[in-house]
Amino acid sequence: MTTSPVLLDVQGLQTAFHTEAGAWLAVDGVDLTIKRGEILGLVGESGSGKSVTGFSLLGLIDAPGEVVAGSVRFKGEELRGLSEEQMRTLRGDRIAMIFQDPLMTLNPVLKVGEQMAEAISTHYPRVSREEIRARCIEALGQVGIPSPQTRLDNYPHEFSGGMRQRVAIAIAMLNKPELIIADEPTTALDVTIQGQILFEMQKLCREQNTAMIWITHDLGVVAELADQVAVMYAGRIVEYGSVEQVLGSPLHPYTQGLLESMPGVTTPGERLAQIEGMAPTLTTREAGCPFRPRCTRSDVLCGQRAPEVTIRGERHFRCHFPLEAQA
Ligand code: SF4
Repeated sequence: MTTSPVLLDVQGLQTAFHTEAGAWLAVDGVDLTIKRGEILGLVGESGSGKSVTGFSLLGLIDAPGEVVAGSVRFKGEELRGLSEEQMRTLRGDRIAMIFQDPLMTLNPVLKVGEQMAEAISTHYPRVSREEIRARCIEALGQVGIPSPQTRLDNYPHEFSGGMRQRVAIAIAMLNKPELIIADEPTTALDVTIQGQILFEMQKLCREQNTAMIWITHDLGVVAELADQVAVMYAGRIVEYGSVEQVLGSPLHPYTQGLLESMPGVTTPGERLAQIEGMAPTLTTREAGCPFRPRCTRSDVLCGQRAPEVTIRGERHFRCHFPLEAQA
């Protein structure tokens, strides 16, 4: 996996939301690379900027939001500055997005089979009807939908929530994308169905050598699914590295706090630990390290200067006083 060439290279990405009081950076200098076939967990609390990052990569930020700086290179090609039509050609073909709400993908008044056929024929108009049908049936089967031949004739409302999300995933996988960006697609589902979908997504990505960015607030999901993890806080990536290293031996106090608040870390009957305080909103970020009001390791320097990125081997972090890595 580590020898795979870089598929997506993001440098210095900034996305602002313009208000009468000024421009607020929801994404503030994000750097990310993802290799072919690699699964990256992008994790953070609500408001950390993780979903805005995902939408920014695909050119899906609407006013008053705007990507204001940085570069997003996909297979070496700069995506910033491409026309909406060029981005549409990429989306749903080489890059696919899976949303938290499958109805962002599915049209409620069209049969699933019609929508799937359109997803193929828009990008590949010469594919025959027979082949399209065969590919749709195969894709539904791959995500665990029973009797896919007959389900092609159903409307989205005739599927349960979990099955609807599987259909949305099948559509995303139809054209064998090289990169999938998945924004909390299993958050609304129960734990058993979530586990099944994670397993199937991982299997499909491995089989098709598809890279994936899985956006989530849940480190447990990252542990199960991902190769690499990027932890976001207040618009920045505060820690990045392999899942094994970051979850096994975090360097950033925020990552450690997230880990300690995961169910299963405490012994049965013991209360779950929680990170004290609230994450800052866009308008309440102070100077210095944004995690400072909640950090048990903060010192004077933390209030004076925001930490820059430190690179230690394959690991990146932003902290003046990192935890010691376990050997
Ligand atoms: S820079 Fe300081 S306040 Fe920020 S996480 Fe590190 S120790 Fe805590």
